[in-house]
Amino acid sequence: MGYVKGLKCRECGREYSIDPIYVCEFCFGPLEVVYDYDAIKDVLTREAILSRPQNLWRYKELLPLDGEPTCGLDSGFTPLVRAARLAEQIGIKKLYIKDDTVTHPTLSFKDRVVAVALSKAREFGFNTVACASTGNLAHSVSAHGAAAGFKRFIFIPSSLEKSKIIASLAYGPNLIAVDGNYDDVNRLCSEVANKYNWAFVNINIRPFYAEGSKSQGYEIIEQLGWKAPDAVVVPCASGSLLTIIWKSFKEMKDIGLIDDLGTKVYSAQATGCSPIVKAIKDGVDVIKPVKPDTIAKSLAIGNPADGFYAKEVTRETGGYGADVSDAEIIDAIKLLAGTEGIFAETAGGVTLASAIQLVKSGHIKKDDVTVLCITGNGLKTKEAIVGHTGEPHHINPNLKSFEEVLGKINS
Ligand SMILES: *Cc1c(COP(=O)(O)O)cnc(C)c1O
Ligand SMILES: [Zn+2]
Repeated sequence: MGYVKGLKCRECGREYSIDPIYVCEFCFGPLEVVYDYDAIKDVLTREAILSRPQNLWRYKELLPLDGEPTCGLDSGFTPLVRAARLAEQIGIKKLYIKDDTVTHPTLSFKDRVVAVALSKAREFGFNTVACASTGNLAHSVSAHGAAAGFKRFIFIPSSLEKSKIIASLAYGPNLIAVDGNYDDVNRLCSEVANKYNWAFVNINIRPFYAEGSKSQGYEIIEQLGWKAPDAVVVPCASGSLLTIIWKSFKEMKDIGLIDDLGTKVYSAQATGCSPIVKAIKDGVDVIKPVKPDTIAKSLAIGNPADGFYAKEVTRETGGYGADVSDAEIIDAIKLLAGTEGIFAETAGGVTLASAIQLVKSGHIKKDDVTVLCITGNGLKTKEAIVGHTGEPHHINPNLKSFEEVLGKINS
């Protein structure tokens, strides 16, 4: 293979060779993987892609490995669902759900980034993988790492949803619950990463990890029939997914897999943790850190590493941002489940509720081909809707008792 040219600083452009590094030594800017797009153009045609298995590696020339992938061979290629019933409810015509609630193996889009990060960690020769997580990354590194035979150190805020903690523990990692929020966990992990020779998927090998998100963008375009959408709404924690989806769309254009690109990119956050959307709305460059207070724990990053770049993408594309209350998140989770049969976690509620606002405010137009990135499964955050759903109808085990209830239901 060998389509990767090296790493490059996003700020000053200085180039680096491929190593487990992530910041520029000169300006502290983040490093990014650079590819030989001219060579990729000749190989990665629509026909080549369509002839390959339906997983994220069908775009392997655009992913940062030197050899063949070794982890997460079944991740990616989730459905793009035409959401006609939901579209009618929210007042637009052409709505699609990119349904990463069913990603293999841990039911969130993090399986994409971890598949790539661990395949790269193996190429670098690491035998221990680690992460700082808001929940889904912990789950995914625990699972992918188990299947690939890595030692695993998983760091989480101790206040995480119980169901996400259990879900990670099932795979037998070393789970470290830190008394602090995600930003505290992340700071600690930077220190640990400096001291131990581990692959921290979202710290020292972050440039490679981030590239995994591109697969979601490629799939959206392929599944729309090789067309970019008019609008895409993306939930933001660190801002990486949003930034990288835009990168993936531009790459598709640059290597000639699509002809036109006019997508507006919209950022979705919970009001209780909305540093990126606040900067978008205020029209300022500085992302002011906040202390998160929201049920959308998977998005609760108060000091987002890629916040500036995410904000820039919304500006550059003519998109915008929306932030939503916990009550709106819960209503949106139920609306998506009740209209499309898709049960999303809190981040999915954030995305849909934000889209509803953006339609009402006229940012997203009635005829816009709109894609909502629904990034995680509701079975992982059931706590969020406990007490906000209906109750079962209790009956005795006989027909009479059932028909009494049926009478009430029908009346
Ligand atoms: C991690 C995560 C995101 C987005 O994360 P970024 O840090 O912005 O890339 C979105 N949804 C879910 C469910 C997540 O776990
Ligand atoms: Zn630099």
